Amino acid sequence: MKIFEDIKKIKGIGEKTAALFNKLSVYTVEDLLHYYPRTYVTYGDVTKLNENLIDSTIAVYLYLQNDFVSKKYRNVEIGTVYGTDGESKVKLTFFNASYLKNKLKKGSKYIFYGKLIKNNNEYVIEQPQIYTPSEYESLKESLQPIYSLTKGLSNKLVQKSVKATICDLSYHSLYEEYLPKEVTNEFSLISRVKAFEKIHFPDSTKAYFEARKRLSFDELFLFLWMLKQAKGANQKNESVYPMVEVAEVNRLIERLPYRLTEGQIQAFSDIKSDLCSGLEMNRLIQGDVGSGKTIIAFLSLIMCVCNGYQGALMAPTELLACQHYENLRKLLKENEIDIEIVLLTGSVSIAKKRKIYEEIENGNIKIVIGTHALIQDKVEFDSLGLVITDEQHRFGVKQRVGLSKKGGQPHILVMSATPIPRTLAIVLYGDLSLSVIKDKPVNRLPIKNCVVDTSYRSTAYSFIRKQIGEGRQVYVVCPMVEESEGLSDVENVTDYTLKLRKHFDNEIRVEMLHGKMKADAKKSIMNNFLARNIDVLVSTTVIEVGIDVPNATVMMIENAERFGLSQLHQLRGRIGRGEYQSYAIFINGNLKNRNNERLNILNSTNDGFKVAEEDLKLRGAGDLFGIRQSGQLQFEIANIYEDSELIIGISSFLDKYLRNDVELSVEEEATMLEYLKENQYKFIDFRSI
Ligand code: ADP
Ligand code: MG
Repeated sequence: MKIFEDIKKIKGIGEKTAALFNKLSVYTVEDLLHYYPRTYVTYGDVTKLNENLIDSTIAVYLYLQNDFVSKKYRNVEIGTVYGTDGESKVKLTFFNASYLKNKLKKGSKYIFYGKLIKNNNEYVIEQPQIYTPSEYESLKESLQPIYSLTKGLSNKLVQKSVKATICDLSYHSLYEEYLPKEVTNEFSLISRVKAFEKIHFPDSTKAYFEARKRLSFDELFLFLWMLKQAKGANQKNESVYPMVEVAEVNRLIERLPYRLTEGQIQAFSDIKSDLCSGLEMNRLIQGDVGSGKTIIAFLSLIMCVCNGYQGALMAPTELLACQHYENLRKLLKENEIDIEIVLLTGSVSIAKKRKIYEEIENGNIKIVIGTHALIQDKVEFDSLGLVITDEQHRFGVKQRVGLSKKGGQPHILVMSATPIPRTLAIVLYGDLSLSVIKDKPVNRLPIKNCVVDTSYRSTAYSFIRKQIGEGRQVYVVCPMVEESEGLSDVENVTDYTLKLRKHFDNEIRVEMLHGKMKADAKKSIMNNFLARNIDVLVSTTVIEVGIDVPNATVMMIENAERFGLSQLHQLRGRIGRGEYQSYAIFINGNLKNRNNERLNILNSTNDGFKVAEEDLKLRGAGDLFGIRQSGQLQFEIANIYEDSELIIGISSFLDKYLRNDVELSVEEEATMLEYLKENQYKFIDFRSI
């Protein structure tokens, strides 16, 4: 077995199973090893039988009241035995398990583990697992992996396949150590083979952490190495696009319907001095959701065009690109500024695109707004002086590097709401200068938040009705697009829309929005929402970034427990953008965990920085396997908050290494470099960081 071989090489995986794995993008042995558990479960304490535990998985210590008896019905053999916990009685049933006859005898005692149900007024556990108390005790230490699945592929089958890989004789030769001894010692790292084994089957929490650390290390090491390579080739140079201040822009600022905040003024002044400095700009603007970053981008673009160059603004989603385009067009029109701008997204027809490319190349079009893929891959500019990326955390190093190559070296401005601590920002973004917008526009009332459970829904609906009566609009966010097997307690956009229409007797205009819809349909829904032709927009997280509809005042998030905190904060950022009081309602769909500490953080603050910090503290304290944060730099397993120390450590090691301050043997160095060079392309091409 080799790392790049087809998973069919793994014992027990045939055509059929392989096809199922392929659906999950698992093709090779390596893919399978990288198919990390979504979460883990632990075996709970042994309990007594109890009405309240019906439908839960329990472990119960039973004394058997009779011998195991097995009867054949057609082609299944059904075995039963009764046991008691000293107070209540339970029937245990087994399928095709006649071999248990010798084990399950009257008077024997075992711990039985399985789901407790009630059938014909008696307790039943079907197909329980059987353990001795000491076996169960050692199991309790370990964590059982739970994987994301697809129809036909069971958790057990994934476990079995991973296990078969790890137990294969060739497993230990799959990954040779590429790190110098010094490094594994300094960072106390376990070997890679061990790490893969333990991430799937941690026999203790400690083992999980060690595995996670090693795998995070590998990801971050490669990432930071790449970053530093890119930087070396990208030092501050004299700019081919020097600029001067323009009166037009100042006039525009005067005429805005609002005053810029201190933070906005400072950020724009930083940008102006960069653009006029004669050197290439490389600046990150960090400002919480709603702090008003867009206008700063527009002003910068206009300044660039007035200096005779072209500008580009890239957004992570088509919806956001569209919104930026409409807003900039409006701004230019209202202020009678004559600049040719264009929107470039996937839904523009090929013929039209060709025409647009031409116009960009000959310089007639001055500002291009679009999704990154399009701008980046196809467009030749005449004189591209400034590239702005909105929501930088959605782009990777690749995009940054890729675009800087177009038409000489343009100035680069990135805008992000991700609250990255300064020390981390310096490592992650390296050569970027940083402007932070701390304040929010003054006319804003702080968002009122509440975290509630599903029983609060009807109250929420009445409240929504009232808000709509007052002319406001509402977002409802659900995690799924449609009903999905095995996830009946997770709300989906399709059914929810119908449910709401019915609830409001069709008096309220409810529409849905999700990523599977055609681009034009999405656009039209969004425009209708903006034009107030829709009252309630039921949506997936496609509205997560950037969308700006100041008249919307309610954000109700179903199954909030399934989202990461930063993501919830981003979502909440869609409201509280205008003069009206806004409300965020987080519905906790997990009845077993009514007092969700994580969600309560959102209740306690509207500050994205604090949310991230508190989240970190809390996860450090206990919630180890919290939902993967989305909307941040996406790694397979590493996390910029949890692994901040590791990031800083690796960064300083690499700096030392690049300064030739680390003594490595020729062999060790060659092995390490070979690994990094081999893997960087894989990383750039396939992982969207
Ligand atoms: P974000 O920083 O999240 O990208 P936006 O740029 O979308 O925020 O701005 C949010 C809203 O605030 C927009 O409707 C914008 O017109 C408005 N806005 C921006 N700056 C100000 C300001 N100084 N005063 C009042 N409203 C502002
Ligand atoms: Mg924005």
